[in-house]
Amino acid sequence: MRTDGSSPEKLRELRDEVKRCIDYRAFYLRYCPEARQSGARLQSLCPIPAHAHSGKGHPSLSIDLQQGLFNCFSRDEGGDAITFYELMHGVSYARAVRELARELGLDGRKGRRPSLASASAPDASEAEGESFEPLDAEQTAEVCTRFLEICRAENQLEGTAYLARRGIDAATARRAGVTYFPRRAYRRVMRRVSDSFPVETLRRAGLFNRKEHLTFYHHRLLFPFYVNGRPVYLQARTTAAGVEPRWHNMRGHVPALYNADSLPELQSGAIVYLVEGFTDTLTLLAHGFAGVGLVGAGGLKGDWLAPLGRFRVVAALDPDAAGRKASARYRELFQARGLALAVIELPSDINDLFRHHPAAALELELLTEKALEEIGKD
Ligand SMILES: [Zn+2]
Repeated sequence: MRTDGSSPEKLRELRDEVKRCIDYRAFYLRYCPEARQSGARLQSLCPIPAHAHSGKGHPSLSIDLQQGLFNCFSRDEGGDAITFYELMHGVSYARAVRELARELGLDGRKGRRPSLASASAPDASEAEGESFEPLDAEQTAEVCTRFLEICRAENQLEGTAYLARRGIDAATARRAGVTYFPRRAYRRVMRRVSDSFPVETLRRAGLFNRKEHLTFYHHRLLFPFYVNGRPVYLQARTTAAGVEPRWHNMRGHVPALYNADSLPELQSGAIVYLVEGFTDTLTLLAHGFAGVGLVGAGGLKGDWLAPLGRFRVVAALDPDAAGRKASARYRELFQARGLALAVIELPSDINDLFRHHPAAALELELLTEKALEEIGKD
């Protein structure tokens, strides 16, 4: 009996396993990044290619996140996530099941050999008393530079398309050094990385695990942090639905605000936005604004403020309770160093704002002007 999902019974099993593991919200948002959530439903413009919607007008796609079902009211077509995948990719049902299973690391070959997904899992932190001397800054930069170079030689299309769906154009992504490699290139990338450095160096960097596999398997969209023009740290995101955690990074700590290396080029007195995450930072850059991003746990470090001293800094964090609390704390951190921080509250996060409002840039400028006037009065 074949066990790769090619018999009807195995295909059903694999389908059930996909449905058990998939994160419906993440899955549908990948295709409908502009969807609005209300309760356990998403409402979105329908992206199904065969429906040939104009892309304007009323959102016709409704998604039930509990059941994972979709329905396009305008074409009266609906079904489960696998049907949705079939329609989006123009593939057969069996192929949709297998591709989704592979994305979720369920390769349907349990007990035969460990899957690449499990062989590539990052080691539990300092498990079994094993501890690593971290690499020094110079070695870290060499490893990052080479890893990015190897990945950049691979096809960037899926990574570029993922960012484009979030409104971030290819030129902006390239300037920020964002780099991708497709899963089919995983073994080649791993081999080329391991040809470049001793395995001990790669383990100390967190690029390889104790099984000597590259740990960047699900997470192949790489966001480098540059200091003085050299990449010194990497965080990577999965572009697939249902993979948790969504982020993976090399060993060590976030060294700086994201995109801080762009600050030296700016004129004193320029407006610099302080935002959350890679997507919001890149969205600002794509629209000609200057921005730096708070990325990862730990928040803002006092040491990072000195290079911001000669700018007019405006915090535009997420418009929720956590964002407001963070803004207040950061303002104190700035004040403790004799610096001012203007704070604005947008109707949504930066990325949403720019994707939904044609006048987003103007709205941002007006709110900024007002917030800067207010701190001028203090
Ligand atoms: Zn439709």
